[in-house]
Amino acid sequence: MSDKIERIKCLIIGSGPAGYTAAIYAARADLKPVMYTGMEPGGQLTTTTEVDNFPGYPDGVDGPQMMVDLQKQAERFGTQVRIGMVTEVEFSDKVGGIHRACVDNSTWVEAETIIISTGATAKYLGLPSEQRLRGGGVSACAICDGFFYKGQDVAIVGGGDTAAEEATYLANICNKVTMLVRGDQMRASKAMQHRVTNTKNIDLRYNTEVDEVLGDQVVEGLRMLNNQTGEKEEIKITGMFIAIGHKPNTDIFKGKLDMDETGYLITKSKSTKTNIPGVYASGDVQDKIYRQAVTAAGTGCMAALDAERYLAEVESEEGEEVKTTKKVEA
Ligand SMILES: Cc1cc2nc3c(=O)[nH]c(=O)nc-3n(C[C@H](O)[C@H](O)[C@H](O)COP(=O)(O)OP(=O)(O)OC[C@H]3O[C@@H](n4cnc5c(N)ncnc54)[C@H](O)[C@@H]3O)c2cc1C
Repeated sequence: MSDKIERIKCLIIGSGPAGYTAAIYAARADLKPVMYTGMEPGGQLTTTTEVDNFPGYPDGVDGPQMMVDLQKQAERFGTQVRIGMVTEVEFSDKVGGIHRACVDNSTWVEAETIIISTGATAKYLGLPSEQRLRGGGVSACAICDGFFYKGQDVAIVGGGDTAAEEATYLANICNKVTMLVRGDQMRASKAMQHRVTNTKNIDLRYNTEVDEVLGDQVVEGLRMLNNQTGEKEEIKITGMFIAIGHKPNTDIFKGKLDMDETGYLITKSKSTKTNIPGVYASGDVQDKIYRQAVTAAGTGCMAALDAERYLAEVESEEGEEVKTTKKVEA
């Protein structure tokens, strides 16, 4: 058996919409991409049912089915999709340098370029009733799923900017939005707080937590707990949105790539370039603002194009160097 380390042109880490779109473009550009899927093959969309807002599906599409379609499309052009988790990385900071990634703590792969599409994980409260009803009315994405509750009564949990923005978004579509804030004030900016308090159909409850989500197969109600008085109250709702934040999947890149204070990778303006030449970031791992499948796919495309251009530049520079050396030798 050979101990030789595999060397590839383009390694894609993560198999969500960003990773698969990067794979389609990289494979069609003959970069022969290899993708490692991670622990959640298909990414966040495999945790939802209907996706209604991805262009090209006039009747909507089941989230897991959409990811199977994307995988097939990436494989059609020769992407190698492998099950495995990247557990460690070593980057070269030289232009044209070789990067290394360790898979499942055992196998090292060398890559001329790496596209990081490891996404972000939505935070949940952790209540058993909440977990049981995920996909049955409990969602971590109001922009994605709010439409399904048009004209109905819903609740949203959280007190930050995202929660405030999503509450006002839901208020435009739904009949009534009950907003549960754990503390005695919101963490959102003053402007966002103002928007919430000025929206008539948002019922804002401070010092209030979820005691239990009610319903068997689908959400039918919510039992709330006032953490100051201990009082419990039940309301009827059909949808519950959790907006208490996301965690970008960037632990293995800490100290190796530039990231913001919350761990999102920083890319250079209007590109997917990180601070390391040949290493690119696409999708939710570098986007805490839009967090949609279509925006993830868009940046996946950008990352593959950035990688392709980088490799072309490195190759032409190497070609120039060879020519100069030959001239000097002649
Ligand atoms: C409940 C829910 C419903 C949603 N509905 C919609 C919707 O209707 N429409 C819409 O546009 N968006 C929706 N979204 C948002 C959408 O899912 C995300 O914006 C999108 O999936 C982000 O894609 P991504 O490729 O950046 O990352 P993700 O989909 O998060 O995928 C990340 C991938 O990286 C892999 N990974 C992580 N770490 C490693 C590692 N170390 N090694 C290898 N692989 C790794 C994971 O296994 C996963 O495959 C929804 C999100 C949620 C949570």
